[in-house]
Amino acid sequence: MRIRSGLVDAIGRTPLIRLVRASEATGCEILGKAEFMNPGQSVKDRAALFIIEDAVRRGALKPGGVIVEGTAGNTGIGLALVANALGYRTVIVIPDTQSDEKKTMLRLAGAELVEVPAVPYKDPNNYVKVSGRIAEELAKTEAAGAVWANQFDNVANRQAHVETTGPEIWNDLDGKVDGFVSAVGTGGTLAGVAMALKERSADVKIALADPPGAALYSYYTTGELKSEGSSITEGIGQGRITANLEGLEVDHAYQIPDAVAVQVVFDLLEHEGLCLGGSSGVNVAGAIRLARDLGPGKTIVTILCDYGTRYQSKLFDPAFLRSKNLPVPAWLERKGAVDL
Ligand code: PMP
Repeated sequence: MRIRSGLVDAIGRTPLIRLVRASEATGCEILGKAEFMNPGQSVKDRAALFIIEDAVRRGALKPGGVIVEGTAGNTGIGLALVANALGYRTVIVIPDTQSDEKKTMLRLAGAELVEVPAVPYKDPNNYVKVSGRIAEELAKTEAAGAVWANQFDNVANRQAHVETTGPEIWNDLDGKVDGFVSAVGTGGTLAGVAMALKERSADVKIALADPPGAALYSYYTTGELKSEGSSITEGIGQGRITANLEGLEVDHAYQIPDAVAVQVVFDLLEHEGLCLGGSSGVNVAGAIRLARDLGPGKTIVTILCDYGTRYQSKLFDPAFLRSKNLPVPAWLERKGAVDL
């Protein structure tokens, strides 16, 4: 019998799933690491666990203490679940633009939710900065202490991928991996997996897949942090070099338009039964681009970041898609017809 000893032990060791149509179209093996199969249904469970364990090791977090974080949602969900399992509380600051499904999940997991307007990072009322200030205040008043998870600049986040995601990919493929591609929110996944894989083989190609509105595609192709446009994807799209991204070198960089990303998401659901969020569409589209650049016969891995039901009210809502001039899959239209 192989039993996972609790929620914490159920995080990670996710399967690599062959993406059939992407593989057949490119002549490569395109594999998605099924991070939506984590207990919190996203890749961020890993970072949440490492951040909490690091805070406990440093003595910053004591039993009953509070973890405070600014998050687009998935990190908060991971933190709230791990906190429940290990005996901590969570205060989560979230921009009000994020999906209701993520907010509902946070509330039902017992997190205290602070919704703030979505303003740029340089604004003092940006969700990340608000969460830092709340942590500072609570650290003075809470007997059991309070810590700021600070996922963007806390490299315990990246370390989760150096120690778990990267080695899992390498070991599951017996080292037969030619490329890894990922979008960036904090950069923990891309930089951490890149470090783990490059340490094992300098030949592995690392690629960034960036949505419009992010500045990293420009940074890794021209050296300048510049952004243009916007994206409906959530949890990705970075405008600066976070501590987690420091030292990262990428071999390829791609910008993926929303129309392509959502088409990939709908295609994976319709033909392969994989129900995913928008960032997974960016990732798989990036994997297809990398496959074309590297040529047939290669094995390319990307991340299937989170589960699609988290975006029912946006990515899978015909009215929302139409409002953004994005394609609407036929079966969503059919569902509308039945509802009438
Ligand atoms: N996809 C989704 C849906 C996310 O929530 C995140 C995390 N913000 C990412 C991708 C990117 O992961 P990372 O923070 O490791 O760059």
